[in-house]
Amino acid sequence: MIRFEHVSKQFPNGTLAVKSLDLEIEKGEFFVLIGPSGSGKTTTLKMINRLIELSKGWVRINGKKISDYDIHELRWDIGYVLQQIALFPHMTIAENIAVVPELKNWDKKRIRTRVDELLEMVGLDPKEYRNRKPHELSGGQQQRVGVLRALAADPEIILMDEPFSALDPFSREKLQDDVLEIQQRLKKTIVFVTHDMREALKLGDRICLMKDGEIVQVGTPHAFLTNP
Ligand code: ADP
Ligand code: ADP
Repeated sequence: MIRFEHVSKQFPNGTLAVKSLDLEIEKGEFFVLIGPSGSGKTTTLKMINRLIELSKGWVRINGKKISDYDIHELRWDIGYVLQQIALFPHMTIAENIAVVPELKNWDKKRIRTRVDELLEMVGLDPKEYRNRKPHELSGGQQQRVGVLRALAADPEIILMDEPFSALDPFSREKLQDDVLEIQQRLKKTIVFVTHDMREALKLGDRICLMKDGEIVQVGTPHAFLTNP
């Protein structure tokens, strides 16, 4: 599904953030990138949807080089959830969720149905929440909407960069459960960045430990627990 072949990233200031990475992420896999701050996790993630252009090597999605995709299609077809809650403050919850479907020119009725279906999926009553503004929601609810926005146009791949690290422990647990259920039910391919090993062990089908832009170890949670 997603394949890194000898991928390196050097920033203009000379920092070598990722060094000759080889990696294959399977379709439907919950893949966790873990490692200390500065180990290259975010850079690796952002190269998948070309928020960061790679310096050397290739990334392929379904066999096709990402440089051969239309960049807008690539961005729209890959869901992306950030650490900072990044909802548009002046837009309603429904409008926030519908950003990509709007870009793709879905008709109004289809968008409305989709928004309501998504809100229901995470236990937010559409009648109550659809027309609210982000500031009228708790942090946990806002981040849940951030996840729904990434899912709205039904992408195969979702990238998540420490999506829950700003949340209180209770909201964090709840959102982890939501995302696990979504991934298992909808068979999404998720690439998830964290520096929290408990979170990685709970969520990951496989965990990839990075250090100084290189892979130290890749394996199942079981392998990490038995061979730390
Ligand atoms: P992580 O996500 O594991 O914290 P990053 O991928 O953000 O690590 O960063 C890897 C390395 O690349 C770090 O040394 C970081 O300072 C550096 N880096 C990240 N983004 C840039 C940039 N835009 N310009 C220069 N260096 C960067
Ligand atoms: P994260 O919390 O995901 O590790 P960072 O705080 O490292 O993110 O980086 C936030 C933003 O700043 C990113 O867009 C990253 O590319 C950029 N950045 C990170 N390190 C550097 C750096 N050394 N020089 C310039 N930009 C950087």
